[in-house]
Amino acid sequence: MSEILVLAAHDGDSVKKVTLELLTLARRFGEPAAVWLGSGADAARERLAEYGAAKVYVAAGDDMTDYVAAPAAEVLAALVAQASPAAVLVPSTAEGKEVAGRLAVKIGSGVLTDAVDLADDGGTPVAEQSIFGGAIIVKSKVSTGIPIVAVRPNAVPPEASIVVSGGRGVGNAENFALIEGLADKLGAAVGASRAATDAGWYPHQFQVGQTGKTVSPQLYLAVGISGAIQHRAGMQTSKTIMVINKDPEAPIFELADFGVVGDLFKVVPQLTEEITRRQGS
Ligand SMILES: Cc1cc2nc3c(=O)[nH]c(=O)nc-3n(C[C@H](O)[C@H](O)[C@H](O)COP(=O)(O)OP(=O)(O)OC[C@H]3O[C@@H](n4cnc5c(N)ncnc54)[C@H](O)[C@@H]3O)c2cc1C
Repeated sequence: MSEILVLAAHDGDSVKKVTLELLTLARRFGEPAAVWLGSGADAARERLAEYGAAKVYVAAGDDMTDYVAAPAAEVLAALVAQASPAAVLVPSTAEGKEVAGRLAVKIGSGVLTDAVDLADDGGTPVAEQSIFGGAIIVKSKVSTGIPIVAVRPNAVPPEASIVVSGGRGVGNAENFALIEGLADKLGAAVGASRAATDAGWYPHQFQVGQTGKTVSPQLYLAVGISGAIQHRAGMQTSKTIMVINKDPEAPIFELADFGVVGDLFKVVPQLTEEITRRQGS
């Protein structure tokens, strides 16, 4: 899987939210690698990994502490030459855009700014830009070199690293407590199939799929979900997919890294209990 370089925005102590948003987007196309300029990387590693950074490149020299654009572009250009990433993502701030422009000149690549979302076109990012006050969405792709995309802060929600989703197999709204209980133990977000949201068992904003959210967590757990093409569209780029379904022929098993053929009303409580036991709480 190709690396996606993500220029980390931080204040020396903590990771800025836009960095987590960029890592979230990067997971859609490849393996995110954070690029940390200046001090503080060691304290941030865990947080970056939580959002999918498989690697953290650090450049901590004196000229990096003030986060000036020229050395940042130098470092990124060197990493592009070394790692041949599929794309470089930077925050679409004044600084980020200056870094993007300088880098584009150095490596002879196209640059897109002010993206509000990224779609995947066979491993190439397609940037969505919102114009005329949001009335029109423009889709653009870089045609030369390694795409450099500047993404606006707050454009996408940083997704959880684990999502537990329930489908029609859950049976009713009350039973979603099982899904929530498991999600709580794993520190995960809850998702749902459209069958579950249409039935009113879980709110629509949690729907995963073509007409819902696209998620790309480290672990996606599909419980009582058959794996319709429209559901897959929203979760198939998840790093690891685990399935609990009583039907061994359910199409979702085609995507699964791990699968349990069984009744969710037996499997989920046992799984939650075992996690509780291992956590010692
Ligand atoms: C234009 C359009 C857009 C759509 N957009 C979306 C979208 O964004 N997201 C989405 O999810 N769907 C979407 N759909 C709907 C999609 O086609 C499916 O109908 C939907 O995903 C099915 O949801 P499901 O898997 O929960 O239900 P089902 O297909 O009914 O599957 C339920 C699964 O639960 C299993 N099960 C039942 N009981 C148990 C049990 N006790 N233990 C374990 N397993 C059990 C069954 O074996 C089955 O596999 C869209 C459809 C259209 C036409």
